[in-house]
Amino acid sequence: MNDPKQVPTQEASLAGLDNSWLPFTPNRYFQAHPKLMASARGAWYTNTEGKQLFDALSGLWCCPLGHAHAGIAEAISRQVLELDYSPAFQISNPLTLSLAKRIADLAPAGLDRVFFTNSGSEAVDTALKIAYGYQRLRGEGSRTRFIGREKAYHGVGFGGMSVGGMPANRKMFGPVMVPGVDHLPHTYNLSEMAFSKGMPKWGAHLADELERIVALHDASTIAAVIVEPIQGSVGVVVPPEGYLQKLREICTKHGILLIFDEVITGFGRMGTPFAAQYFGVTPDIICFAKGVTNGIIPMGGVIVREDIFQTFMGINAPQYAVELCHGFTYSGHPMAAAAGHAALDALTEGGAITQAAALIPVLEEVIHSLKGEPGVIDIRNIGLAAAVDLQPIAGKPGARALKTFEAGIHEGVLLRFTADTIAMGPPFISTPDELRAMGDMLRRAIRTAM
Ligand code: PLP
Repeated sequence: MNDPKQVPTQEASLAGLDNSWLPFTPNRYFQAHPKLMASARGAWYTNTEGKQLFDALSGLWCCPLGHAHAGIAEAISRQVLELDYSPAFQISNPLTLSLAKRIADLAPAGLDRVFFTNSGSEAVDTALKIAYGYQRLRGEGSRTRFIGREKAYHGVGFGGMSVGGMPANRKMFGPVMVPGVDHLPHTYNLSEMAFSKGMPKWGAHLADELERIVALHDASTIAAVIVEPIQGSVGVVVPPEGYLQKLREICTKHGILLIFDEVITGFGRMGTPFAAQYFGVTPDIICFAKGVTNGIIPMGGVIVREDIFQTFMGINAPQYAVELCHGFTYSGHPMAAAAGHAALDALTEGGAITQAAALIPVLEEVIHSLKGEPGVIDIRNIGLAAAVDLQPIAGKPGARALKTFEAGIHEGVLLRFTADTIAMGPPFISTPDELRAMGDMLRRAIRTAM
């Protein structure tokens, strides 16, 4: 199709299917049942068959402001003719510097330095390298271990995969994992926390497992602990009351850095700028991505405690020596920085984070109204995020959720599932009525998939 304004036929849309390999996708199923989006506005997609679909996960958690945001569109079209690219090494530009300041201002006090990447995976691997380098530079070079957590998703880099805890993401790559990594137990327990709203009361004691791991390996071998404050990709596993506080205390006691992977929770998903503020727990490093540009131009990064940065600056080397040999051609890309400024305008001054906070009780009511539907074995929610667990079909894990996903498309809602869990994270700009409609469509999809 040469004229992009011309609406393609369904057949023309599929040209290239035989040349594509999609990420985290059952490609054989996709080849047989392709699904293509044609356009998006606000909280809705339109697929190539002309069907409107409510965007129940804000893209992949990355479009909290919805789609076709006028302020972001204007900012990036202006930027492309102003400064489309400048080298990320040795040079910066005012827009990227001022975005770093705005992000640091939003982060908890003391986390003042921003290192830009292009994705969440790169942010995680960057955070791990900074943690490792910091320990070495402060004379604790024996601290080479990282502690992750079961069920965690920290992207697909070798570091993130190694500290991650989703078995399917790891099993093919065992021999090439980063050595020395250990994992905390996950905090999900159906019998103790089924149908909980917000933080479960049960489970803070699981943080004490960190003491056991520290005793096993010795604190002097551990550089950092990394956790998602809420485990998003596995299906919104919410931390028990007091759990993150305990992790913080144990890390501080043993000189271990605490990294929060806020790739999903950063930039308002909890109704606060970061989950760190929601839980009242300040980590030493925060990883971010996704919402920082509303997912429109890839960007990620880490926000680091000032004294960690200063430790790198204190190296015994001339001023012209590079302190951290790490970074990306597109770190702090000016186009992403322009999108980031426009997204932050809308999230903060524009009130979108406040809008998210106001929607939290609506989502809670909508999602818990599904209790009692056939095959629903658990429902949980926190912030503007929720999950519904479906009873797996015997011997066919994931098949029930796939059927529900297909039925959802028929109903008019785009769902995201992992195994038999449906995760929801609607855009902050959704109306309460749209959330209620989303709930009704999901209810009908669940019934159809029984
Ligand atoms: N960390 C977390 C918590 C995530 O949820 C994700 C992606 O969903 C990532 C890291 C990886 O981000 P990306 O896909 O941008 O590499």
